[in-house]
Amino acid sequence: MQIFDHDVVIVGAGSAGYAAARTVGDFGCSAALVDHGPLGGLCILRGCMPSKAFLASSDEAQDTRESSALGVHVGGVSVDMPFVAQRKRDLVKEFADYRIEGIAKFPLYGGRAQFISGNELQVGDDAILRAEKFIIATGSIIQPALVPGLADTGYIDTDSALELEHVPESVIVLGGGFTACELGQFFSRMGAKTTMLIRSGHLLTDLDDDVGDALMTYYREEGIEVITRTTLIRASKRDGKKVVTYALDGVEHEAVADEIFFALGRIPNVDSLGLEKAGVAFDEWSGIGVDASLRTSNPKIFAIGDVTGKYMLVHVAIYQGEIAARNACQNASEAADYSLAAAYTVFSDPQVAGVGASEKDLQKSNTPYVSGRYDFAEHGKAMCLNKTKGFVKMMAEPVTGRILGACVVGPQGSELIHEVIVAMNYRATAEQFMRIPHLHPTLAEIWTYPAEECASRCGQRRPGDEAIEVATNAAPR
Ligand SMILES: Cc1cc2nc3c(=O)[nH]c(=O)nc-3n(C[C@H](O)[C@H](O)[C@H](O)COP(=O)(O)OP(=O)(O)OC[C@H]3O[C@@H](n4cnc5c(N)ncnc54)[C@H](O)[C@@H]3O)c2cc1C
Repeated sequence: MQIFDHDVVIVGAGSAGYAAARTVGDFGCSAALVDHGPLGGLCILRGCMPSKAFLASSDEAQDTRESSALGVHVGGVSVDMPFVAQRKRDLVKEFADYRIEGIAKFPLYGGRAQFISGNELQVGDDAILRAEKFIIATGSIIQPALVPGLADTGYIDTDSALELEHVPESVIVLGGGFTACELGQFFSRMGAKTTMLIRSGHLLTDLDDDVGDALMTYYREEGIEVITRTTLIRASKRDGKKVVTYALDGVEHEAVADEIFFALGRIPNVDSLGLEKAGVAFDEWSGIGVDASLRTSNPKIFAIGDVTGKYMLVHVAIYQGEIAARNACQNASEAADYSLAAAYTVFSDPQVAGVGASEKDLQKSNTPYVSGRYDFAEHGKAMCLNKTKGFVKMMAEPVTGRILGACVVGPQGSELIHEVIVAMNYRATAEQFMRIPHLHPTLAEIWTYPAEECASRCGQRRPGDEAIEVATNAAPR
């Protein structure tokens, strides 16, 4: 067994670990990475990038189907899944090669890592790494499929869905979260008869109800069957098909399809890391607990990214990686602030994105607010583009007018949200926002309407007044 010493050892070379290594390197400290491979991280290999490559094809197929609304008539749309899969593989390889080049700038220990004490980490069978500080960035795993009979029936998860070479004729999607929405719509648009079984009353249940309701309406309009308030009972096989039995209002029903897509999410990857030996407290479902400085219960060991269980998003993983690295190198306690960092987006069509507080958050915390909303169906540029699904919504503090949060369901929502992120970063008020010049006609100028509505109501209310919603019914501009 060989022993190696470094200032900071980072376990996991995905988005979080790689960002941490780069930041440690910037401080002139010696950083080492440990990863059992394959190298590249979830985002590149089995997450964001392959899924977005897939969605580009299914969205294009849908736009083509709808192009006659713009006077462009094409014959029937056919999709070439083997081509789509090869294009995705080529892109993933390119992204992974680039990441591996970056990782190669650091000493890399290949193998499974396991703590043997608070300052020693064993890698595989032949190396022990000693360090003053460790950063754990081991990511997440697909959560166990606990539906009775599902394992025997057979199913695909996000890993295998992204490896498909052929689209099944019909798919049952279990789940209504980010990934279920993205890939469920992908299957449908690529030609699969798609049924989504969800526990709650609408899709994207953690977000505001109007967001999930709107998306659900659009999904149903384009032929996706979304069945709400279901309880999964069991999965089984019959006549070569896969059957999911579920309860709805106390009555048993069945959904039958060629494939089942298990999309109920991921849990932190804490398995076999020897965390007990390092004095790091964790929970199998919620991951490694960290304080605001990203220190675990052992103050010399940090945890970042999906393994911390809260926000399983790449930009959060990178943000945490950079903060943990600065704190590790400088013995500092810089605190992570998620008020903007926890902005999110769902690459459904229409896209969903949000930043800051939701209405649900504000109501839960009894925070007074005013809000304004504007529909893309009333927005001139959206009408020109024939992309009229969805709305934007903004919430502001009633007395100061400071923007508290915003969300969008709509075309290019993942891009549009950045304007509000920037404004909130500088603590802008709705009135200041409204006065920022916006080019015309653009999708982005739609934000000025809810901002205007919020601004018009601000100052009229005092802290303690109950929350109000301001509906905007202005004519198209
Ligand atoms: C289908 C899908 C789509 C997604 N789309 C988006 C999106 O559009 N936008 C977004 O922000 N997020 C998205 N995500 C989430 C995003 O991919 C993750 O939040 C992010 O990649 C997590 O990064 P990480 O560094 O924490 O973990 P990872 O990238 O998983 O890195 C963990 C690394 O640790 C290594 N490792 C694990 N255990 C050990 C061990 N014991 N010893 C040694 N090495 C180990 C692994 O090999 C891996 O390289 C998506 C996820 C999925 C599944």
